[in-house]
Amino acid sequence: MPAYVEPAPIKDKDNPFESMMSRFDSAAKLLNLDEQTYKVLSAPTKQVTVSLPVKMDNGDVRVFEGHRVIHSNILGPSKGGIRYDMLVNIDEVKALAAWMTWKCAVVDIPYGGGKGGIKCDPTKMSEGEIERLTRAYTLAMLDVFGPDRDIPAPDMGTSGREMAWLMDEYSKAQGITVNAVVTGKPLVLGGSVGRIEATGRGVMVSAFAAMEKLKINPYQATCAVQGFGNVGSISAKLLHERGVKVVAISDISGGYYNEKGIDIEDALAYRDKNRTLAGYPNASTITNEQLLELEVDVLVPAAKEDVITDENAPRLRCKLIVEGANGPTNFTADPILQEKGILAVPDILANAGGVTVSYFEWVQNRMGYRWDLDQVNRQSDQIMKTAFDKVYAASQKYGCSMRIGAYVVAIDKVATTYKLRGVY
Ligand code: NAD
Repeated sequence: MPAYVEPAPIKDKDNPFESMMSRFDSAAKLLNLDEQTYKVLSAPTKQVTVSLPVKMDNGDVRVFEGHRVIHSNILGPSKGGIRYDMLVNIDEVKALAAWMTWKCAVVDIPYGGGKGGIKCDPTKMSEGEIERLTRAYTLAMLDVFGPDRDIPAPDMGTSGREMAWLMDEYSKAQGITVNAVVTGKPLVLGGSVGRIEATGRGVMVSAFAAMEKLKINPYQATCAVQGFGNVGSISAKLLHERGVKVVAISDISGGYYNEKGIDIEDALAYRDKNRTLAGYPNASTITNEQLLELEVDVLVPAAKEDVITDENAPRLRCKLIVEGANGPTNFTADPILQEKGILAVPDILANAGGVTVSYFEWVQNRMGYRWDLDQVNRQSDQIMKTAFDKVYAASQKYGCSMRIGAYVVAIDKVATTYKLRGVY
């Protein structure tokens, strides 16, 4: 086998894909990955770009550009969300598809990685226009999607509503109901109980597993959570319910701090009533930047990418970071966190509870059966805990961060499977 060749230097430090590739490269080096396998795992298996003519409400026809990328189907059918956003482009979709490959491999579910997107602004479209666009996209991707081929899910700008249309259009084309073609569906169409809470629950399980390693007593621990949407609010709620004192929360309107601890049920009720935390009365206001730099045991960035960088990392005062968001830590911050002794549980592990319960949704659909919440939670907690232990062990074995340890576990699994399956 030819020796692994040093990859090209990183070009753009603000690009989440570059962040991901830099970690991929570090893990590949630790694993002594051969050049051929490196090349195979770096390149997507399939990329499809389609033009989607859609009749708008005013009678005009607009042509939208849609993509679906399958990064890898080595472990099984590819899995990944569909994004509706004006910034969607093929490079971003490629990056996000690769990210899904590693995430599924870390939690050891039998999926490859994929991602899709349509360049559009759903906030400026009517429900009917979005429905026609979703159905046109599904028809154009009939040969790509499939419960044994490629299984989409919601992502930015899409939700259970679009997944229901996708499932319906795909099913009509097949002449039978195929609910396993997509996950994140409404419950009545075969969605899984526990899916909405799954990512935040996995963050909580990861946080507890990491606190145990650091010998932090959860009943005496403090926590700050950035973002109060699906992931942030559920993570905060579950940590709070288990005795962790959540002293700060935030959303796009800013940060809210109370050194005595924030009553998360109260904050949730406020957000549900007002649709934002703006004006939340039972805390003092701080900025989102200040929240990240609070002296707390646990920091959960659960809003957006690249909030922890080489600029603010030197000022961080937490002991543990549990990444609810995708890509919240830029790769330039990694060595600084290492040097400061801050343990970072990486996104591809910490927020993989969502894809794990998506997998359970698919399993239930294929069985034609429903599990109860207890079974879903018990099994996803177990998968998260096992994955955490594996990644922690890899970080000890290779003397690397948990982030690189997660890539080591993922790449090793995909590379070994690839080699055993063989190449011609
Ligand atoms: P969401 O839209 O439900 O919530 C996002 C939250 O972040 C909101 O409270 C919003 O106000 C806040 N926010 C937005 N911009 C902000 C900013 N500049 N500063 C501070 N707060 C800001 O989204 P979500 O589903 O909770 O996803 C959050 C992150 O978690 C994303 O990175 C997403 O990719 C990732 N993620 C989500 C899931 C899932 O199952 N929902 C799974 C894996 C990863």
